[in-house]
Amino acid sequence: MSVFCIVDDKHVPLYRVVWVAATPHFCGSDSCQREGFYEIRLEQGEVVWASHKERDQLLEALEDWAGGAGPADEEEDESWH
Ligand SMILES: [Zn+2]
Repeated sequence: MSVFCIVDDKHVPLYRVVWVAATPHFCGSDSCQREGFYEIRLEQGEVVWASHKERDQLLEALEDWAGGAGPADEEEDESWH
């Protein structure tokens, strides 16, 4: 499984994602190029813009990635400490 997800033609490392917008961007500006796109905030204040499909793929990839890191079995070991 890859730790990268393609957003806006860029390979974005999943571990650099800080948050993902729940609603599409809207600022009311006539010249806005990002209306209807979802903001993906990365570390160091960087931002990439995802289409609805790209955002869904990213969220799915993030869940797989985070889910794979902490299987239920390991939680039982925690109480042992
Ligand atoms: Zn805008």
